[in-house]
Amino acid sequence: MANFETPEIKEYPTIPLIKEGVMAHSKPFISKDAFQQPLGFPGELLDNWQDVAIEKMGEMLGKYRGLQVFLDSCVKCGACTDKCHYFLGTSDPKNMPVARQDLLRKVYRRYFTFAGKYFPKLVGAVDMTKEVLDDWYSYFHQCSQCRRCSV
Ligand code: SF4
Repeated sequence: MANFETPEIKEYPTIPLIKEGVMAHSKPFISKDAFQQPLGFPGELLDNWQDVAIEKMGEMLGKYRGLQVFLDSCVKCGACTDKCHYFLGTSDPKNMPVARQDLLRKVYRRYFTFAGKYFPKLVGAVDMTKEVLDDWYSYFHQCSQCRRCSV
């Protein structure tokens, strides 16, 4: 029979103190070009990958009205924060569901909203850069899509 100690129940607050960037290193294994190409992927970033990404985002926004509604309707109240086991377990602020969403939303704002196009700093809008892409790759893979935050 396994012998282990039951962890003590913690008093509130349960939300941990944040540790900026502590999980930034955690990325999934990147497949080799030779394995990606037969699947129809280019294998490495195209020269105009930013344009391709923004065009795709525009296509999705045009196709799925709900996407735009969700991107526009979050007021960052943070009620989702203590629902994410990845944030609770790692303390990395980018694992807060609201921050994870914002990785996409800040790019959406930059290219698809009036305020983001003309006053990006005021609304937290940013360009689609390699750093942003790396954050997408790292932090979207740290979500198990359990949907606890959506409740
Ligand atoms: S879906 Fe689950 S794992 Fe992903 S951000 Fe929400 S609570 Fe976290």
